[in-house]
Amino acid sequence: MQLYNKLSAKERADLIDKAGVKRLTVSFYQYHQIPNPEIFRNFLFVEWDKLDVLGRTYVAKEGINAQLSVPAPNFEKFREQLYAVTFLNGIRLNVAIEHDNKSFLKLKVKVRNKIVADGLNDKTFDVTNIGTHLNAKKFNEIIQDKDTILIDMRNHYESEIGHFENATTPDVDTFRDSLDVIAEQIKGHEEDKNIVMYCTGGIRCEKASAYYKHKGFKRVYQLEGGIIEYVRQIKEENLENKFQGKNFVFDERKAERVSEHVVSNCHQCGQPADDHVNCANEGCHLLFIQCPECNKKMESCCSQKCIDIIHLPEDEQKKWRQENTVSNKIFKKGRSPILKFKKGS
Ligand SMILES: [Zn+2]
Ligand SMILES: [Zn+2]
Repeated sequence: MQLYNKLSAKERADLIDKAGVKRLTVSFYQYHQIPNPEIFRNFLFVEWDKLDVLGRTYVAKEGINAQLSVPAPNFEKFREQLYAVTFLNGIRLNVAIEHDNKSFLKLKVKVRNKIVADGLNDKTFDVTNIGTHLNAKKFNEIIQDKDTILIDMRNHYESEIGHFENATTPDVDTFRDSLDVIAEQIKGHEEDKNIVMYCTGGIRCEKASAYYKHKGFKRVYQLEGGIIEYVRQIKEENLENKFQGKNFVFDERKAERVSEHVVSNCHQCGQPADDHVNCANEGCHLLFIQCPECNKKMESCCSQKCIDIIHLPEDEQKKWRQENTVSNKIFKKGRSPILKFKKGS
């Protein structure tokens, strides 16, 4: 029985092209006690591999968090199979609005300590006492209330390219860091404000809302299903869209455009831009925002140094990578003072 991925990304991409079948990008999560994550992990891998499902999934004693690419013709079967698992029966599957057959090129199902790295000791508070779920319509209403503090639970590089109007966007690199940064910002409003939070697909808010209730906040709300589900609902129900820019996603697509607003700037020249790229120097791979002109001029690289490296023969590049394992991180994920659009601000 094969329990691990055997094809390279390139081999997989070729197979997908050859098959010519449309694939859906799907995500879901569920907090639930899983006594033996290893057995559950193996079960999922075998079943999903049969259906040609790809993607990245974390299974832990606290639950499951999955981001997948499913062949459209197998979707019904995939759902049936998932719903046959008692604690996943009827679970909402977030289906992406923009499709890309190559959103994932491998099937990875991993056992982890947690399904989201939150740095919290779950034994110290009631993780099931979560904030009130809001649908898109209710969310639109409550964020107009003057007694609402709207919080983006995502990291800086995610909210940089798109966020809700008037949201607080913490200047952090990880979810773990954001929890306390935000707690500090909302301190003193335990009783008098609505604390309304959102994230990509809703999973981070499930834990964060419980944490803030534990910290004494009384009026805690969360956007159910996150930005992905919000966008689906505003389209389906013809509601006003309050999200500006792009929704950052964790697959090869990098982001989904939600509105035409461009809310960020090229990290190299400072002009409005919201395309994330990874530096073409494999040994750097820095994620940063680059406009089409800079992309061309800089050959998809973050710096002259990386341009020099990609022009070296492959064996010299390999040698460089062995000696320089860490990306040069010159833009610090959009937070560096050297950024042109930040000068004077
Ligand atoms: Zn530029
Ligand atoms: Zn670079």
